[in-house]
Amino acid sequence: MSFQAESAFAFEVTHRSGAARAGVLRTPHGSVETPAFMPVGTRAAVKAVTHRDLLDAGVQIVLANTYHLYLRPGGDRIARLGGLHRFMGWHRPILTDSGGYQVFSLAGTRTIADDAVRFRSHLDGSEHALSPEKAADIQAQLGSDIAMVLDECAPAPGTPDAARGAMERSARWARRARDRFLAIRAGDVAGLRVTNPGQAQFGIIQGGVYPDLRTESVQRTSEIGFEAYAIGGLSVGEPVEVMYEVVKQTAPLLPDDRPRYLMGTGMPDDLFECVAQGVDMFDCVLPTRNARNGQLLTREGRLVIKNARYAEDERPPDPGCGCYTCRHFSRAYLRHLFLSQEMTAATLNSLHNLYFYLDTLRRIREAIVFGSFEKLRQEFHRTFSRRPLTT
Ligand SMILES: [Zn+2]
Repeated sequence: MSFQAESAFAFEVTHRSGAARAGVLRTPHGSVETPAFMPVGTRAAVKAVTHRDLLDAGVQIVLANTYHLYLRPGGDRIARLGGLHRFMGWHRPILTDSGGYQVFSLAGTRTIADDAVRFRSHLDGSEHALSPEKAADIQAQLGSDIAMVLDECAPAPGTPDAARGAMERSARWARRARDRFLAIRAGDVAGLRVTNPGQAQFGIIQGGVYPDLRTESVQRTSEIGFEAYAIGGLSVGEPVEVMYEVVKQTAPLLPDDRPRYLMGTGMPDDLFECVAQGVDMFDCVLPTRNARNGQLLTREGRLVIKNARYAEDERPPDPGCGCYTCRHFSRAYLRHLFLSQEMTAATLNSLHNLYFYLDTLRRIREAIVFGSFEKLRQEFHRTFSRRPLTT
C-alpha cells in the first residue's frame, strides 16, 4: 500500500512479518528504509561524531531539536542561512521535534495555558512562549523534512485526570498546528521564510498509560489528517512492560499505510518488541548518551568500559561488530581513553553504539523481508540482557 501526499513525502510498506513491517519512506531529501533509527542531533550535531561517521554507520535520517535551535542560533538565522540541511551540511532527511518535550522537561519555570506554554530559556533565563503555531513556524524556518506538532506530555506516573488533560490539550493543539502548517504550505503566512516546501507534518498520540485515552487520542488526531502519526508520552519513567502494552494497543489503531513513529525509545530489545507491534521509526539519545558515559551496547548487553576486568582485555568491545571502533581498538585501550577523559573516548564509543543500533535495525529489516523476523527476535532475546556484562 502507498499514498502520495501533495508534498514529496510518501511511504510504502514493502514486506510484512506478522505485524512487523519493512518499508520505504520518501522525503524531499531522499529515502529512508524502515524500520529506521534516527540518531539525536540535539543542536544540529550528533554529539562526538561527524556526519561522515553517520553515513559510514548507515544513518539515513537524523533528528534535531527545535527548542535548542530556536534558542541558539535561532530559527530566523537558520532560515537566512538557507535552512537546517544547508546550515549543518547534512543533505539527507531530517526530522525535527516540536520543542515541547524540552520545554516541559528542561526549561526551568513554565506555565501552560491553552494559547501557549511560557518558559524561560535554560541558557540565559529569557522569557519565551511556544504555541502550536510558533512550533510550526520555527520548523518551517528550519526546513526539516518531517515536522512534529506541539503536544503536551504529562509527567509520569500521571493520574488519569492529568493524562486526559494533556491528551485533550494535545488534540486541540494538533488542530491548530495543522491549520498553521497548511497555511504555511499555501504561502499564506506573510514574512515567514520557508526553507523546505515539501515538509511533512506528523501528529502525536498522547493518553499516558490509559488505553481509552490512547484510543480517543488516535481518533481525534487522525481525523485532523496528518502525513503520519507518532506515539508520544512513553519512555518517561513507566515500566517497560507497560510501555510495550501501550504500543501494542495503540500501533494497530494507526493508519496502516502511514509510518508509525515511537518517540524517545529505547533499549535495543525495545526495538525488536516495538517493531513486532508495527512501529517503523525510532529515535533515542541512549546510544550516544550511554557511549559518552562509557557504556557500550553489544549483542550480549551493556559493557561498562571502566570496569577493572577490561584493563588488559585485548578483545574488541563486540567481537561480532564490524564498526571502526571494534575493527581497530581493544577494550583495554578504550578503557584507558575513558579513564583518561580523552575526547576520542566519546567518539569511538559513540561510533560503536550508533553502528550497533543501525546494524540491529538492518538485521531486523532483512529478517522481515526474508520472513525470519520472529526467529531473529527470539535469538536476540536469548543473548541480550539489560544487566552489565560480566565477561
Ligand atoms: Zn563496534
